[in-house]
Amino acid sequence: MREQIVEKVKNAGVVGAGGAGFPTHVKLNTDVDTVLVNGASCEPLLMSDPHLMDQEIDTVLAGLNTILDCTGAKKSYICLKGKHGKAMKSVQKAVDKDSKGRIALFELKDFYPSGDEQVLVKEVTGRIVPEGGIPLQVGVVVSNVESIFNVAKAMNDIPLTQRYVTITGEVGQDMVVKVPVGTIVSDLLEFAGGPTITDYRVIDGGPMMGKVLTDIDQPVTKVTSGLIVLPKDHNVISQKVMDPVKIKRITGTICCQCTHCTELCPRKLLGHSINPHKIMRSLFTGDTDDIDHKARKEALLCCECGVCEKFACPMGISPREVNVLIKNELMGDGKRWQGTGEEPKNHPFRNTRYVPTKRLMQRLNITKYDTHPTLVEGFVPDVVKIPLNQHIGAPAVCLVNQGDNVTKGDLIGEIPENALGARIHASIDGIVESIEAGVVKIRKI
Ligand code: SF4
Ligand code: SF4
Repeated sequence: MREQIVEKVKNAGVVGAGGAGFPTHVKLNTDVDTVLVNGASCEPLLMSDPHLMDQEIDTVLAGLNTILDCTGAKKSYICLKGKHGKAMKSVQKAVDKDSKGRIALFELKDFYPSGDEQVLVKEVTGRIVPEGGIPLQVGVVVSNVESIFNVAKAMNDIPLTQRYVTITGEVGQDMVVKVPVGTIVSDLLEFAGGPTITDYRVIDGGPMMGKVLTDIDQPVTKVTSGLIVLPKDHNVISQKVMDPVKIKRITGTICCQCTHCTELCPRKLLGHSINPHKIMRSLFTGDTDDIDHKARKEALLCCECGVCEKFACPMGISPREVNVLIKNELMGDGKRWQGTGEEPKNHPFRNTRYVPTKRLMQRLNITKYDTHPTLVEGFVPDVVKIPLNQHIGAPAVCLVNQGDNVTKGDLIGEIPENALGARIHASIDGIVESIEAGVVKIRKI
């Protein structure tokens, strides 16, 4: 049975909807005892997952049962926060009806980052993923709600061509909307009434881990969970657009070594050997480019959640950005985390150091955008730009030519032979207008 499920999920091009787009067929090709449905809706303001759990719970449950059959897991928890009351009720009702008895609801506390895979595993199962490891090592698969929804579709041979996106911030009408993959951000913002201010920037993703788009002519991809429009000078934007090299230099001079970043680091609180304040200290003690510096290697354990940067640090500097920079240097040099050989031990104060989402939003100055928008139908784009690389692994090999007619769901990108990757499908009916820089542009006819 596993072989058939994996093949169908692979054919449908399903990738992790909540992260960097790891191909789901690879993730499912394994034995575990527990599956966690990540419905934490961890990033503030993003609301697609609660909507899916409320309105598409039967499809989500069908996908989840498929994953349980595939992995042999005996138990599964649908994890979401109590504050999403409507979704909680829908899930509970569906779980009560599910005859196989393998699925339960798990109510998460409202803190950030409750949806971090490793934090979620600890919260629900009490197990701690080894440093630099993945949940599979403790017998768990974690999958995002929308990925599971897409697995159910895949079992009916429906490929991944659409994405639920939250649009919020300084726009005419905030909303959750289902859009074809490849939709151009500017078209989508226009559908939402357009930006209400002139000097703005758009974040692709959430305020904590999302990236500022360099222009709004870019497409929504399989991993775009939200578009947040904020004033150009908003503090969330300012930190994201700062030159990382400058951040590294400033950090080395103004860090006061208060250790708040380490005390609140979610990975440190899981018992991992990451100490962001020591990484910062290494910048002003010795050679700033010494990538073999012991403390600096700990950057490999950073999940880039941003708690240190946006909540903990009183000096307004960013251990996160410094870690990303150091991580890139280390990984570029072929360095990987070697591990201490010791089992991580839960930090004794972990339960008292949760970062409440409400306080985080106040700190970020985004509370006024927390409007819980509703699902809006009716968006139909005239043109889509579909990147052949929207996932972890190798870019897909293009199967179409300029001028080809395509129908929604047609395969337009294939996984290269013997490579990790994901298939890509046409998301609208139309004609291939161009193929440039790994992007297939399709215009509706
Ligand atoms: S971003 Fe900061 S708080 Fe988050 S894991 Fe990395 S060092 Fe820790
Ligand atoms: S919280 Fe900021 S100032 Fe304090 S040790 Fe960490 S980086 Fe330095």
